[in-house]
Amino acid sequence: MTNCLFCNIASGTIPSSFVYEDETILAFKDINPKAPTHILVIPRKHVSTINELSEDDDLTIGGMIRRAGLIAADLGHADDGFRTVINCNKDAGQTVFHIHLHLLAGRTLTWPPG
Ligand code: 5GP
Ligand code: ZN
Repeated sequence: MTNCLFCNIASGTIPSSFVYEDETILAFKDINPKAPTHILVIPRKHVSTINELSEDDDLTIGGMIRRAGLIAADLGHADDGFRTVINCNKDAGQTVFHIHLHLLAGRTLTWPPG
């Protein structure tokens, strides 16, 4: 989708440096980090929200979660811990409508979230 920010990041139309990339997923630093480590993991395929996922996406979403764990481990957060979050729509505060998994780490995160 040409009018989607994260599609444009995925296609290279908006230049970005990636923490990780393969044929199906990408990871890059959040522009406005909410923790010392704040990385977004996205599918290359445009999917607006969790509500639009199909069974065909199961492998990709599973890969995104596993990749977040590998990135967290690479950055030294495996033992202290980290959080993965996918916001969906208004009440969760979703602002970019291309599904993305937040990887947050490097400080103690409160629970429940606000
Ligand atoms: P949401 O609120 O939709 O769950 O998360 C969207 C995230 O995208 C926010 O944490 C926001 O800081 C991040 N973001 C918005 N625009 C950009 C951008 O142009 N580049 C990067 N790297 N992150 C962005
Ligand atoms: Zn998109």
